[in-house]
Amino acid sequence: MAKLLEGKPIAEKIKEELRLTVRGLKQPPVLASILIGENPGAMSYAKSQQRLAGELGIEYCLRVLPEEATESQVVELIQKLNNDKHVHGISIQMPLPKQIDGESIRRFILRNKDIEGVNSPVAAAVMELIKTSGVDLYGKEVVVVGHSETVGKPLVFLLLDKLATVTVCHIGTSKAGKLEEHVRHAEVLIVAVGKAGLIKGEWIKEGAVVIDVGINRVGDKIVGDVEFEAAEKKASYITPVPGGVGPLTVAILMRNLVEAAVAQQ
Ligand code: NAP
Repeated sequence: MAKLLEGKPIAEKIKEELRLTVRGLKQPPVLASILIGENPGAMSYAKSQQRLAGELGIEYCLRVLPEEATESQVVELIQKLNNDKHVHGISIQMPLPKQIDGESIRRFILRNKDIEGVNSPVAAAVMELIKTSGVDLYGKEVVVVGHSETVGKPLVFLLLDKLATVTVCHIGTSKAGKLEEHVRHAEVLIVAVGKAGLIKGEWIKEGAVVIDVGINRVGDKIVGDVEFEAAEKKASYITPVPGGVGPLTVAILMRNLVEAAVAQQ
């Protein structure tokens, strides 16, 4: 049975440090968070941000746009927040509605307020959890499922830095019927898609480290992309959903924000 890789204990350490830094600032850091539509993953992430901001003395400003918002409406809001000198960091809740291209809107966020782009908190959280497992990535077969700009792609570079052998799977892999084959070879598997049960537990390689980034609402439950009960029987380490990548991601996002606020003040 796999050991759980929980994000909370690591997040607690980060939070302790942040509380001290925030107390030392002249003004509380301000996080502006943009939520477009009602995607459950995006809404749950916004809620965790709000909760943690409250705990840390960070001012949280949620800006909600309707599901049918256009890219130019989002850009207009971003430019307002860029020009607002009280705002230190801007976060865009993912995934976005289909008509909005994340990359094209993200380009409008001022570099010093972009707390998600350059140092992707999700990718950093995944790397931190792998480190906790004690598994050395050097030469390991790592499979990343999902190649989004904010999760999959930044992860690939961090994994390559550790000299892992990285395979990236995406919709084309699934359509070609090759997802199972790749997953079965993964010594470290990272899944960031947003489809409950996409990865069957029986596909997991014996002893693999499984990091499930996905957040999906199924009935009244939040689950990941991996079939947890079956996967934990085969993996050596696995992240729970909720309680794995999520709490750590939001703590790292706040760390990026506080660093931005320190630099701007
Ligand atoms: P996204 O931008 O929608 O990207 C999803 C990725 O999955 C795309 O690269 C897509 O490929 C790929 N994909 C879609 N269907 C697939 C399939 N059947 N087989 C293989 N790949 C497939 O989403 P995201 O922002 O990266 O987020 C992914 C998930 O992580 C969501 O559930 C989100 O809520 C969650 N998330 C969690 C955290 C956290 O802190 N835990 C943070 C951020 C996101 P194509 O582009 O080629 O279609």
